[in-house]
Amino acid sequence: MTIDLHVHSSASDGTLRPREVVEAAAAAGLRVVGLTDHDTTAGWDEATTAGEHLHVRVVPGAELSCRAGGVSVHMLAYLHDPEDLDLSGQCTGLRRERLDRARRMVHLLAADLPIRWEDVEEIAGPGATIGRPHLADALVALGLASSRSAAFATVLHPTSPYYVRYWAPDAVTTVRRIRAAGGVAVLAHPRARLRGGRLVTDETIAALAAQGLQGLEVDHREHDDADRRHLRALAADLGLLATGSSDFHGAGKPNLIGENTTRPEVLEALEALGKAARDQRP
Ligand code: AMP
Ligand code: MN
Ligand code: MN
Ligand code: MN
Repeated sequence: MTIDLHVHSSASDGTLRPREVVEAAAAAGLRVVGLTDHDTTAGWDEATTAGEHLHVRVVPGAELSCRAGGVSVHMLAYLHDPEDLDLSGQCTGLRRERLDRARRMVHLLAADLPIRWEDVEEIAGPGATIGRPHLADALVALGLASSRSAAFATVLHPTSPYYVRYWAPDAVTTVRRIRAAGGVAVLAHPRARLRGGRLVTDETIAALAAQGLQGLEVDHREHDDADRRHLRALAADLGLLATGSSDFHGAGKPNLIGENTTRPEVLEALEALGKAARDQRP
């Protein structure tokens, strides 16, 4: 049974529709796929319906931007109630922050390059969680960059004068909200440098575990063998689940669907935690 617990669709910054992501999962021989778009659950229904037709189990999730110990991190939420007001409110707030920030970046870019906000809107489509990948795609479509990666390495890089930060909530609050919403909280790619800066420390991860964090994403493209060994041992020490996933973005990144996977007993434990959280809700 092949399980990939972290992939993106056009509901955020993936290039495939949710249905197409599930088709790609089926074509790659996956039995289970976790749809974890940035700060939204908008792709869940389409993906779940496609999964029923294609006999792929879709684990509904989301990847939430937050901050831990002064560092930007991404928190994976699985199996939560998409209508929980605190968590869905946090996502709505984040999407608004991201939109604001993207508009500001386009405003700065437009001083030097022939790009307009409408170009980005057209690329992202209605309702998608906006991110730098959409700016990158607009730059490529306008002939102003050769690829997403080239845009990320230059004008969209955190050190670029066009880069603008966006506010994100605290990771402890995020973990609490995920659990209160009947979900399971897994720290995404702890050893990936999100802004080229500092990494989240083991002490911060231990503090998060004490506050309810339930898993670490260990097997991920941006972790080398030493990172994986270290994180696997840390997860064992702290009693956390160790997941693995591709972080597939369609054509938007080199990551191939199913390139890293999660063991079946880990998914089973994750689902049991989700059930326990739902059973505890008032
Ligand atoms: P943002 O959250 O808007 O700052 O954008 C970060 C997103 O861009 C991440 O979620 C990644 O999926 C994506 N990303 C980061 N680096 C690259 C890259 N070099 N090529 C393509 N996508 C990238
Ligand atoms: Mn992304
Ligand atoms: Mn991420
Ligand atoms: Mn991701």
